[in-house]
Order: sequence, then structure tokens, then C-alpha cells
Amino acid sequence: MIEYEDLKNLNRPFFAEFEASFHDTLESGWYILGKNVAKFEQEFAAYCGTSHFVGLASGLDGLALALRSFGFSPGDEVIVPSNTYIATILSIIQNGLVPILVEPDIHTYNIDPKLIAEKITKRTKAIMVVHLYGKVCDMDPILALADQHQLKVIEDCAQAHGAMFKGKKAGNFGNFGAFSFYPTKNLGALGDAGGLTTNDAELAAQIKMLRNYGSKEKYINEVAGYNSRLDEVQAGFLSLKLKYLDDINTHKRKLASLYLSLLKSDYILPDVHPDFYDVYHIFNIRHPRRDELKRYLLENEVKTEIHYPIAPHKQQAMKGLISGEFPISTEIHETTLSLPISFSHDENDVLKVIDLLNRF
Ligand SMILES: *Cc1c(COP(=O)(O)O)cnc(C)c1O
Repeated sequence: MIEYEDLKNLNRPFFAEFEASFHDTLESGWYILGKNVAKFEQEFAAYCGTSHFVGLASGLDGLALALRSFGFSPGDEVIVPSNTYIATILSIIQNGLVPILVEPDIHTYNIDPKLIAEKITKRTKAIMVVHLYGKVCDMDPILALADQHQLKVIEDCAQAHGAMFKGKKAGNFGNFGAFSFYPTKNLGALGDAGGLTTNDAELAAQIKMLRNYGSKEKYINEVAGYNSRLDEVQAGFLSLKLKYLDDINTHKRKLASLYLSLLKSDYILPDVHPDFYDVYHIFNIRHPRRDELKRYLLENEVKTEIHYPIAPHKQQAMKGLISGEFPISTEIHETTLSLPISFSHDENDVLKVIDLLNRF
């Protein structure tokens, strides 16, 4: 059986280093906001090319605290793609803000910059872009619009660690870049973890305060904050795994290039363009008989996933919160299939999947 994802095998090469790191943290006697978090914050900022990175408890918290830090008013609008994981939209709703969904480009699956302007109103305060599947959005027209209308830009980078647009890494384009280190992400911890990149020292200080009950100095609370801290144990693991992130991305890109060059033309493949360095958090193909294809692969011992089976605007949780029809997003959700492409797969696994797909 070829698993879709095998987290134990994926992490096995790092087991010895994880154990040493855990032992160091255990012996340090300092378990919250200590030297591991400070070290990883510096290292991850340096990796992304931003001046700051603030570690938080999750990617969703990153998105939510980024919005919170701007002090928007209830009912203010945030533009967000209709084709995303629901967490992106939850962060907007958690802040009492209104998500305004914009359809994706059917080739890149990312927000279509051409459709944003018509959704901007007097209440629009921010654009939250999502670098879906590990491809950075087409940022030039988005940043131009944000500049023109004085909108904040938040990048959801949960699937895009190390992905680039015109040589610049995700997390470097907006006011904030929100990262998740959920175990399956390209840089995955052994539990929940996340954080925000920014090039603005004041915003970084604001997030450090918000993550720690709204306090800069112990027992002095300036704002009503949260508890959303990246923990020392996970930060230690992330520091050592970060050294291998480029290897992980290179490996995924090598597997992607096999799919891209060898799959028959029945399948709609991800868009490839020289301006974009994609890191393939997910490698998806599209096919009108997606469910049948998924069953066929499973019968032949290949597990796949669907990212995602139900579009956000069709989720029960979003009833009354999202209005409008989103046919492009719906089309993607109905036809997309994610193929095995993790650090624990090798070329033979992928060649086997390709062979099966070419005989479907
Ligand atoms: C994983 C993910 C999130 C949420 O991150 P968590 O760390 O699980 O909170 C947000 N947005 C996208 C696009 C994601 O893939």
C-alpha cells in the first residue's frame, strides 16, 4: 500500500535529533517562551527573509491575531479566496469581520487578482491571500490594489514554507505572513505550532503582546490578549527540522516533476510558470470522474486525499455568514484529487502511481 502520507516514516530520519532536542529542553527546566522559541524565531525569519517572526500556537491563531492587531471594527470586510481551507475564513469570523469571497483562477487555484477590485467597498480593510497547495499568489496586481485602496495584506502561508514568487519567499509580501507547522505541512512539528512573519517591528511587538495575555511586562496588561504561544519543545524540533526544509521542498519538487512530465493528458495538472517556485504542499490533479478515480487507485493500493471535498461556502458552519455562488471554487472541489508527494515517498512510489493513472 502506498500511503497518502506517513508521518512516522517522514520524521524517522530526524528521530535521533528530536530525542536529543527533547532531552535538552527537559534539562533546561524552562518550558514556555525560552531560548528554543527565541532561536527558532530568528532562524525562521532569516529563512523567509523577513525582519521578524513571532511563534504562536497555530496557523489559525496567526491569521486571527494578525487581523486583531489592526484594530478593525466589527462589520469591516476582509477579502479572501473562495477556494481555501476553512481556517482562513474562520480567522475573519472570529474577529467579528465579514469575509468577502473572491473566486480563484481556474489554472493556479489561487485568488484571481482580476476579480478583487469589484469586491472592494468602503468597508474593505484587508486582503487575506492564500498561497494554496504551495504556490504563491500572483502578488504584483494584489499589492498594487492594496496600495491604491490602503488595504492591509495578510498572507496565509500555511502551505507555502519556502515557496517563492519572482525569487521572494512567501511571508514577505504582505503586512503579515501566517504560517502553520501542523505535522503534515512542509515544515511540520510534532504537534500544533504556528506563527507570523512581518517586516514591521511595531506589528511584531504587538503580536508578542497579544500572544501573552496582552502583556509585555509580567502582570501588566495593556490589552485583553490571548494565550497563543509556540511551545519550547515544538520550537526545538522545528529549529532542527528547518535545516532540512529545502531538502524536503526539493524532494517534493522532484516528485512533482515526474507527475508533470509523465502523466497522460486526460488529467488537468497544476500550472507551472517560471516566476513561481512551487513547493507542492499538495500535488493535485483534476478529472471529471474524480470519485471513480480515487476508488480505482485505492483498489490498486494507492491512497489519495481530496483538498477539499466541500467548498467553504457550502459548509454548514458558514450558513448565514457567506453569501453568493462560487461556481469556480465548486468546480475545483468536485474534481480535485491529491496524489502522494511527501518526503517519505520515493520515485518508485510515484512511478507506480503514474503507471496506474495512465491506465485508468
Ligand atoms: C493548515 C492550514 C491552516 C491552519 O493552520 P493550523 O496550524 O492547523 O491552525 C490555515 N490555512 C491553511 C491554508 C492551511 O492549510
